Amino acid sequence: MVEVSIHPPTEWQLEGELRIRGTQVSEGPQTWVPGHALHCSPPGTQVRRSADTGAGPRSPSLSSVSLRKWLGLPRSPTSAALYGTSNTLQLPFSGLTEEFMVLRTREALQYRDSRDGKVSSACIEVRTGRKWNAGKAVEVAESRLQQKALVGTVATGRAGLGYFPKTLVSQVKGKERHHLLQGEVRASLEEERVSRVVGLRQQGAWTMWNTLQRRITWANILQADFQRVRFLVQAVYDVLPSPSNLHVWGKIETPSCLLCSGRGSLEHLLSSCPKALADGRYRWRHDQVLKAIAASLASAINTSKNHRAPRKAVHFIKAGEKPRALPQLTTGLLHKASDWQLEVDLGKQLRFPHHIAATRLRPDIIAISEASRQLIILELTVLWEERIEEANERKRAKYQALVEECRERGWRTYYEPIEIGCRGFAGCSLCKVLSRLGITGVAKKRAIRSASEAAEKATRWLWIKRADPWTAVGTQVGT
Ligand SMILES: [Zn+2]
Repeated sequence: MVEVSIHPPTEWQLEGELRIRGTQVSEGPQTWVPGHALHCSPPGTQVRRSADTGAGPRSPSLSSVSLRKWLGLPRSPTSAALYGTSNTLQLPFSGLTEEFMVLRTREALQYRDSRDGKVSSACIEVRTGRKWNAGKAVEVAESRLQQKALVGTVATGRAGLGYFPKTLVSQVKGKERHHLLQGEVRASLEEERVSRVVGLRQQGAWTMWNTLQRRITWANILQADFQRVRFLVQAVYDVLPSPSNLHVWGKIETPSCLLCSGRGSLEHLLSSCPKALADGRYRWRHDQVLKAIAASLASAINTSKNHRAPRKAVHFIKAGEKPRALPQLTTGLLHKASDWQLEVDLGKQLRFPHHIAATRLRPDIIAISEASRQLIILELTVLWEERIEEANERKRAKYQALVEECRERGWRTYYEPIEIGCRGFAGCSLCKVLSRLGITGVAKKRAIRSASEAAEKATRWLWIKRADPWTAVGTQVGT
């Protein structure tokens, strides 16, 4: 056995300040970011170290503290909140520890699988300290991949079997195999993070949400209204200075709500304060979100009027010619008629059409097609994310009798409750409804984003005005 002394590389010695170039323009405006706060550069950017002090690695905890400070967050959010890759709210950072481990795994793999026989047979050990060993990490990653190959294809989230193409470890070699192994190292770190977070009652509450994920990009962080991102992160992990949190932190004596005598937790302030409800604050937020959804539906109805059903024709192909991919035409409920009339419970009270059924219920959105006798009923709820499933069941039961009555009278009725989390996280029901109506692709993404952002902005306004008197008129902003 040959002994080779390996000097650790210095790429991860992030000290001093780093210069980030704009992602689009190579010679564009440059932003200064504290070096210790930056663990991964935005995709496509060049990161330069302006002062290489050559000092050793900073401890991950210290670097996380600096990152929190730079983002203007309190000290309390866990590192899983900052670096988690499976979180409901994902930030574009990765932990220094994680990058170090992946870098060293790659190094160990390069020595082990080197084409040079002398290097690969030298049994080079990558020194990484006592707590973690790169060689062992490679072994664990190999065994994880083999175990995955034995298990075969499994369902991911709500997608169908085989929706996400999977690379089999037995079919890849060289660089691609190294990438898979590094991915496994990252995956095992993420599993550790999630297992820690699940035990946290307040900061780990998102693990129980049944909502769509949101991703914060570098563009969001570097833009002017960064306060929005800051609020969003603090609201998701419940670390805003609510009376309840301030009491826990020892800043105030009583944790009572600023409007009523209840306990002023974030949930109470944003979704269940009886005084705020009586003031019409939640109604105002509900209307803001309803307006955004109604605008998306109205534009979809306009587009669907120009929609032509595909003609059933046989496309012949000449010898040697490749078949042309035909444009995929989406068909949803909105495409099945051209006389949709949209009615929304905004401004004036919506009355359910008497010729269809007599009821006192007031759904938020109704779309009627008299010619084809079709009816779409949607009911929106803007609520605390943890209560989404419960609200869905409640609203479904509330309208069941009405839906059955409409169907008995010969109307093809589609009813679905929609839930939007008050912190800007749309429930899966919104995604389902949009697909069923025939709003797909970019239009669907835009509709989800506009509804989420409307909820988030309105909630932030309610938070800012949490102690102020409120007079809301219709859908106007309260003052
Ligand atoms: Zn209250």
